[in-house]
Amino acid sequence: MSEVEVPESHPRYDSLLTRHRIEAGVEKGITSRQGLIAQGRGEAFDYLLGEETIPSADAAARAAAAHFLLADHPVVSVNGNVAALVPQEVVELAEVTGADLEVNLFNRADERMRAIADHLRDHGATAVKGLRADARIPGLDHERAKVDADGIADADVVLVPLEDGDRAEALGAMDKTEVVIDLNPLSRSARTATVPIVDNVVRAVPDITAHARELRGAERDTFEGIIADFDRQAALDAAELAIREGEGTSPRKE
Ligand code: ATP
Ligand code: MG
Repeated sequence: MSEVEVPESHPRYDSLLTRHRIEAGVEKGITSRQGLIAQGRGEAFDYLLGEETIPSADAAARAAAAHFLLADHPVVSVNGNVAALVPQEVVELAEVTGADLEVNLFNRADERMRAIADHLRDHGATAVKGLRADARIPGLDHERAKVDADGIADADVVLVPLEDGDRAEALGAMDKTEVVIDLNPLSRSARTATVPIVDNVVRAVPDITAHARELRGAERDTFEGIIADFDRQAALDAAELAIREGEGTSPRKE
């Protein structure tokens, strides 16, 4: 037994562990109740994908790593689900790529902002942005538009895992390179992204970090080549096909 009372031999261990982490996030005041609903939707898509990283998602993660390494100012946006599921992993990604971490919530509440920032610091983050909220994303209502002037507002590349469609569109309109992780290839968030990664955040974040570790120190040309070769529409189509037709490489786990 590990962090939850589920035997590791259970065929859907990873999925159950993920669910428990979200529950614990709600108990700790990190994740909202809407976050539970988002998780349920994500699980359904992940089940259909075969709960694995499909090749097009891995290619997207590699393109995301190239964008991060080329960026002047990359930022990882963290919400309540991301903080509950992959706190250590986002800290590692930020370290490897020199990115900032910024807490950014759909339903902004100061207490939850602080709880998430503390949770990230407990997992090794040295600086966490988002609490100052001294800039706005144009085109959104006041509360949902708040970001840090020296964080997301200033970023040239932003990773928004599990972002809501409106905000993903508004960020995209700000002329930023937007990397979105979303298990639903039809969601507006995924469709808006420069780089849509259709994968579970628990697999996608460490996958971007692994590519970044491998690519770190490469020439600018290498990054530019990887970015030019990535076809966002092909990635969305491949994910949709995998979901509709079970094109995944491994059999369903149940
Ligand atoms: P919109 O079209 O506005 O983007 P939406 O259905 O995406 O609508 P939300 O419920 O806010 O709106 O989005 C939650 C999204 O996050 C869903 O698409 C869901 O599939 C995805 N999601 C949930 N959990 C995970 C996860 N662990 N990893 C990746 N994606 C996830
Ligand atoms: Mg969405």
